[in-house]
Amino acid sequence: MENHRMDQLISMLKELEGIVEKETAKKLEVEKCNRIIQKLHSFITDCEICEQYFNDLESRIIRIRDKEDQLTMGEIDQLKQEIDHISTHLQEEHKLVSSGYYLSIYMTMGMSLGVVLGLLVLDNIALWLPLGFGIGITVGAAIDADAEKKGMVL
Ligand SMILES: [Zn+2]
Repeated sequence: MENHRMDQLISMLKELEGIVEKETAKKLEVEKCNRIIQKLHSFITDCEICEQYFNDLESRIIRIRDKEDQLTMGEIDQLKQEIDHISTHLQEEHKLVSSGYYLSIYMTMGMSLGVVLGLLVLDNIALWLPLGFGIGITVGAAIDADAEKKGMVL
């Protein structure tokens, strides 16, 4: 529902990116914001908090856009903070994960396991560390790809 509100928000952000200085534009991370807005929008019919966040974000971005030249870094920081809060909510309440989330977890797990096996059990760390690392990356990447397919990646 109300898909045009989302499109409008995204195009306003794009507009904003064109107005502000390069440094500020970089700080905005528009691509990341867009992904978050799309995910947020997909939950607004079921989640009151998401709906509230969406409304807040919308009025904030409209306010920022209307300021144009008088835009301060403080306002960009506040916007970033709000995006971070939304991102945290999406991860905690809606079980979304950041991109590469499983890869980093399994890589660390694989390496630890490789060290333990290599040192304590099989006495060949030169073999088991890279092996654990390799298996961790492979498994993590596969789970990441699966999460991506299910639309669970932020
Ligand atoms: Zn929500």
